Amino acid sequence: MSKLNIESKVKLNNGTQMPLLGFGTYQIPDGEITYNSVLYALKIGYRHIDTAKFYGNEISVGGAIRDSGIPRKDIFVTTKLWPNDALNAEKALETSLKKLDIGYIDLYLIHWPLPGLVKKTWKRLEKIYKNSDTIKAIGVSNHNVNQIKSILSIATVKPVVNQVKCSPYNFDPKMYEFCQKNDIVMEAWGPLTQGKKLSDENLTTIAEKYDKSPAQILLRWCIQKGIVTIPKSTHEKRVAENADIFDFQISESDIRKLDNFSKKA
Ligand code: NAD
Repeated sequence: MSKLNIESKVKLNNGTQMPLLGFGTYQIPDGEITYNSVLYALKIGYRHIDTAKFYGNEISVGGAIRDSGIPRKDIFVTTKLWPNDALNAEKALETSLKKLDIGYIDLYLIHWPLPGLVKKTWKRLEKIYKNSDTIKAIGVSNHNVNQIKSILSIATVKPVVNQVKCSPYNFDPKMYEFCQKNDIVMEAWGPLTQGKKLSDENLTTIAEKYDKSPAQILLRWCIQKGIVTIPKSTHEKRVAENADIFDFQISESDIRKLDNFSKKA
């Protein structure tokens, strides 16, 4: 594997590029705390921020991006369409754009599938994507293989990403293989198991071996599998720790061990 760094990107199926490491913002309250966390993440080198209408913090995310002094084109920003807005996607997008106030959105995701409306929602998003230059790529989140298959059966634009709950503790090899086969990038939310498994002995044993923290092992596992990962923290020390994952390599046999953690969980 060529040497990766904090800005290393994966190419999406529409030709745009997305940094493998991003900064998650779920449950970070709007206002100073989101603003400062995002600003700090950008200051130390993160170039990808994940937010959503549902998180209620797009205003502060956008403010930090604008004030960072980093050219807009160097930062990749994802926001999401909430299911209630599925049939009103134009309006929802307009509101997110207004709140973020950063000109355009790099990636707009359907946050959750609406059973029965999966194809219809995708068609709406496709239309907006084709007619507007305010979204550079479109994708899905929390969609299962059958839902993506049904999208692919009618799509003229393929989803670039499926953002799903993913860590060694809930790794779905079928989804991973399906995404690879269809040139869809898998993106991990909850890559740190939302903090729940960081003391698990199977993980701490591997972490000790590499002289890295359990969080760093979980994130590096994603990076080595080509899975985009978006850890969240509001503590500067942890934000920095979560980005310090580019100076070591997990062996293939330890990657396989991690792949199988979900079977033990
Ligand atoms: P996560 O797995 O990133 O865990 C975050 C928690 O891990 C923190 O609150 C903290 O308790 C702990 N933590 C972080 N860094 C640590 C470190 N270095 N050492 C020890 N503990 C540490 O969980 P998440 O925030 O739910 O997921 C990441 C991002 O994914 C979100 O912020 C959001 O942007 C996105 N997300 C998307 C969806 C979706 O439905 N698409 C759902 C949830 C989250």
